[in-house]
Amino acid sequence: MIKQKKRFDAGELIFLEGEFGSCAYIIESGQVEIFVGPVDSSVCLATFGIGEIFGEMSVIDGSPRSASAKALEPCELIVISSEAISERIDDADPIVQFLISMLLQRMRLTNRAVGQETNLTEKEKIAPPALLSLESQEKKIQTEKVIEKMRVESELKHALVADEFTLHYQPIYELNVRGIAGFEALIRWNSPSRGLVRPDLFMGIAEETSLIVPIGRWVIERACQDLQRFRKHEALAGMGYQDIFISINISGRQFQDPHFFDHLVATVRNYGLCSSQIKLEVTERVLMEGPTALYYIKKCRDLGFHISLDDFGTGYSSLSYLAQFQVDSLKVDQSFIKKMLQDPKTFVITQSIISMANGLNIPVIAEGIENREEYLALTEEMFCRFGQGYWFSRPMPFQDILGLLEDSIQHDKVS
Ligand code: C2E
Ligand code: CA
Ligand code: CA
Repeated sequence: MIKQKKRFDAGELIFLEGEFGSCAYIIESGQVEIFVGPVDSSVCLATFGIGEIFGEMSVIDGSPRSASAKALEPCELIVISSEAISERIDDADPIVQFLISMLLQRMRLTNRAVGQETNLTEKEKIAPPALLSLESQEKKIQTEKVIEKMRVESELKHALVADEFTLHYQPIYELNVRGIAGFEALIRWNSPSRGLVRPDLFMGIAEETSLIVPIGRWVIERACQDLQRFRKHEALAGMGYQDIFISINISGRQFQDPHFFDHLVATVRNYGLCSSQIKLEVTERVLMEGPTALYYIKKCRDLGFHISLDDFGTGYSSLSYLAQFQVDSLKVDQSFIKKMLQDPKTFVITQSIISMANGLNIPVIAEGIENREEYLALTEEMFCRFGQGYWFSRPMPFQDILGLLEDSIQHDKVS
């Protein structure tokens, strides 16, 4: 932060209402008055003393100063450059930025009312200040986005209490025999106002807040409960589905919950399951979060859970992670599968990833198989062991999955 000192004599003006603010000040010595209106008939809004900051409002939101400042006695001020403030504001969470700008707008409105010693009507007091109506279209869109985000966040909290979440399951196939090896649990939000919402529209928001912790717990609880229901299902008994696994997506932030492991172990035990039937899908991004990730992954594996490295190939230095982290399987991101038959380079990269993992004895799951050509390339040319995708099945509710398994049993019996 660039610091520079300025001195002002008693009575000297520091800045004037209406000017654009290029800096804020911290008072090293002396006293400063903030006032509105003409100098000879001004209205004092506040006086500040040693250690206090002033003049920051217009630096933060780039609006003209809504009050003037003068030294009440000889003052020494530290100048805080606008960059030093704006860089920090620009880096802040958009919701924090929005709240700050709302607060500033309200303070300005108050200053204006005092300055004019006016009788602003009730309507004017609650109306958005002129500033808002002058905002660029871009800023308005940004504001709407932030408000929508806050709305979703608040609705998500309610959704948990109101039991609006549900899990869909997508089968993961052993490709050469085309048999179901397990399922990936994928959360959906059954919102009364929005309909069935896909996770990309709300899990990011949950991850930015601590909401991911209770939502993540709910996912673990429900997935374990459903796995127990699979195992107990009469029609499936003795059909080789006893060893079926469930993959659960885990966000990095969930590991930071001090009760994460206790809850996971207790839940698995509670439903009479074995930890090796649970695959925890973590993305490369989680691994990039540093040495603590290594500790979490190791702890999961020590407790008998399988770790699947999700979205493989989309992060950085993917290959070095395989040497550093012990993982039980890796999932080639669907962007590779989507492009590989159109783009020869992507084909070679996909083939190399699978061949390298095969060489390291790490089973590979190809994500997003949408047609027979992709399936054939993966099995016959790349020797990929597992896969999932719309070509086999879309994610579906638990009851439909039971139906799918029963059908496949019937089919086996007939053929
Ligand atoms: P993901 O873990 O990569 O999950 C795979 C996504 O690919 C799912 O999207 C699935 O529906 C979709 N998909 C599967 N096969 C195909 C295909 O053939 N073509 C195409 N185009 N897409 C396919 P979904 O269910 O919308 O989930 C999106 C992401 O949300 C997931 O990506 C995961 O990162 C996150 N997510 C979902 N459920 C959870 C959860 O319970 N916890 C956490 N932390 N994240 C979750
Ligand atoms: Ca996943
Ligand atoms: Ca994935």
